[in-house]
Amino acid sequence: MEPIRLPKKYCLKGARLIDPVQGLDKAGDLVIENGVITEIGSDLSAPVCWDMQGAIICPGFFDLHVHLREPGFEDAETIRTGQEAAAAGGFTGMACMPNTEPTLDQAGVVRWVIQQADGFPVAVHPVAAVTKGRKGEELTEMVELRETGAVGFSDDGSPTANPEIMRRALEYSLLVKAPIISHAEDLDLSRDGAMHESETSTRLGLPGIPRISEDIATIRDIMLAEYTGGHLHLAHLSTEGALRAFEEAVKRGVRVTAEVTPHHLLLSDKAVEGYDTDTKMKPPLREESDRMALMESLKAKSIQAIATDHAPHTFESKVVPYDEAAFGVVGLETAVGLIWDRCVDQGVMEPADIVSIFSQGPRQVVGLSVPAIKAGAPMELTIFHPEESWQVKTEEFYSKSINSPFKGWELKGRPWGILKDTHWAGRVEPDFK
Ligand SMILES: [Zn+2]
Repeated sequence: MEPIRLPKKYCLKGARLIDPVQGLDKAGDLVIENGVITEIGSDLSAPVCWDMQGAIICPGFFDLHVHLREPGFEDAETIRTGQEAAAAGGFTGMACMPNTEPTLDQAGVVRWVIQQADGFPVAVHPVAAVTKGRKGEELTEMVELRETGAVGFSDDGSPTANPEIMRRALEYSLLVKAPIISHAEDLDLSRDGAMHESETSTRLGLPGIPRISEDIATIRDIMLAEYTGGHLHLAHLSTEGALRAFEEAVKRGVRVTAEVTPHHLLLSDKAVEGYDTDTKMKPPLREESDRMALMESLKAKSIQAIATDHAPHTFESKVVPYDEAAFGVVGLETAVGLIWDRCVDQGVMEPADIVSIFSQGPRQVVGLSVPAIKAGAPMELTIFHPEESWQVKTEEFYSKSINSPFKGWELKGRPWGILKDTHWAGRVEPDFK
């Protein structure tokens, strides 16, 4: 996918403009000049216009949790292919996790990732490691990493097992003003589990990962956040128990935020029944009661972000027996369509809430400014069509990897791409007349 340079001045006509921060939700047009929104209204004109045919234009979406695999695992994804997948999926920015090789634990590597991402319209904001080599032993130079551009700190892929290290990281989070992102898992309780521990895992003969593995680690990290006053962000929250602990902590005034993934919102452990290794990830797909609790939390707006935990893996690491397969699924190119189809069409969320949870919510977690639809605002917009019906076909993915549990799903609502400053990047070609 090559980014396309946009005309100097143009009009996007016949769209539905949604920006919850501005209280905007109406049919209308935008005029953009030199990458800045200059007019918002109806019957606007410019030297060239693109008919949006009722597509939704909204502030650019942001994915808080992406594994770009570069440096080190370029067979599965590169920074560039991850950016292309993001643009195709409607994301103008993302935070990438540090479990690369080398780990994002030094300023030089963080700077390299930022430089590598430059030149494509999707912004990449590295999350640096909490501990050197993600080994859980020694804190990284958090101040220097933050100054280099890290937006958060995490040992994601693994938990930060030592509570004393986690305590000090949370204390530093106050100094560097960035969250500690917790992959909450007690590895002693997870052991060699391959899926959620339940009646289904027993029936399938697969080793289980119990809920308590996530619940205990979540509660420990919440207690440490409460004790230190630091900012804890819970990644890929998946159990009802962790959700309740999170909601109660928020009520007590603990500085804790959380994200949930599309796969935990839309699938349960029953999806593992065909032994499709693309249903294997950490935390694992839980039970229907957990899934319903997460859905309710969306309705109640208690969770800040939907994040994909986009985790590309090569075909080879997935065409093996279930308990030997790699953990993780791709998500950048399906998230928006899935959530629109299954949440808006089924009345769980309003369109403006979806825009909010994909644009404003995640950026607030990492303290980034939120793009806006208003005159004078630099252009950073997502375009998706709410009525476009499509089927998830992995051969159409821009990602290098195809490990999606949603392959074959029929969805309504699909991103076209993104507008960022002076460029377009996306699945469809701009159609200026
Ligand atoms: Zn994780």
